Amino acid sequence: MIEHDVIIVGGGLAGTRAAVEIAKIDPRLSIAVVAKTHPIRSHSVAAQGGIAATLKNVDDADTWEAHAFDTVKGSDYLSDQDAVEILTREAPDVVIDLEHMGVLFSRLLDGRIAQRAFGGHSHKRTCYAADKTGHAILHELVANLRRYGVQIYDEWYVTRLILEEDEVKGVVMYHLLDGRVEVVRAKAVMFATGGYGRVYNTTSNDFASTGDGLAMTAIAGLPLEDMEFVQFHPTGLYPVGVLISEAVRGEGAYLINVEGDRSWPTMPPAKWS
Ligand SMILES: Cc1cc2nc3c(=O)[nH]c(=O)nc-3n(C[C@H](O)[C@H](O)[C@H](O)COP(=O)(O)OP(=O)(O)OC[C@H]3O[C@@H](n4cnc5c(N)ncnc54)[C@H](O)[C@@H]3O)c2cc1C
Repeated sequence: MIEHDVIIVGGGLAGTRAAVEIAKIDPRLSIAVVAKTHPIRSHSVAAQGGIAATLKNVDDADTWEAHAFDTVKGSDYLSDQDAVEILTREAPDVVIDLEHMGVLFSRLLDGRIAQRAFGGHSHKRTCYAADKTGHAILHELVANLRRYGVQIYDEWYVTRLILEEDEVKGVVMYHLLDGRVEVVRAKAVMFATGGYGRVYNTTSNDFASTGDGLAMTAIAGLPLEDMEFVQFHPTGLYPVGVLISEAVRGEGAYLINVEGDRSWPTMPPAKWS
């Protein structure tokens, strides 16, 4: 039987970023990332447009409050506003941290990270790496997994959670290449298995976004939250689902409804409360 202190199922941006952070906090821990794809083939590699943070490299007037307002408004006021506050306050440090890890962001002429507008943004705050931001970040995170000694099990498919006395103790996985089955014990198990866009006929998600982590969790009797929130890109090509980057709206393209109406962005209030 294989044993680790921490097992993270999922080698996309969520799983790899979590693994790096845990390894930084306590280098003595034995940490493993398991992915049914190679980590750099995770859906995250397809993210194009960028990552929002109020670095103010292009737009001095931007604030985390404006970013928070845009995010809450963009969610039709359904988002968890405490979580939005953490996200938008911490985003600049997160981007700088990624840069220090080695992520090759696009640059302004003076060398600072470039920023552009995105649909729904009241200021130019999207940091990007040309049209392959997810690719740039994921490759660097996977390189950092090796740097911090995180064990990678790529092309291992997790099929089941092991529960003892209502506590998760590990997972069962099999190797896609040869069908070998292994039981892995761990003190902590984290699922970062991505979305389930593939249940829809038309989706911009990759073929691996089948929601098996969510299904496994539900079968184990654990609750799932906010399952109705699935992102659909308004500029996906029908019927194949290929994405026309959201950056097109930031650069001036209009999004209109079937009536030909365009919805106009509203500016954030002067003071966020
Ligand atoms: C075309 C497109 C463009 C996008 N552009 C942007 C953008 O510009 N900016 C932005 O912020 N977001 C963007 N997004 C959204 C973003 O890509 C996702 O929200 C993000 O990548 C999800 O990361 P994740 O780590 O949660 O999941 P994923 O990247 O999907 O990773 C899931 C991981 O879990 C593994 N896995 C799943 N099931 C199992 C199993 N049973 N056993 C073992 N491993 C398993 C997979 O192999 C994979 O490694 C975009 C999305 C799309 C579709």
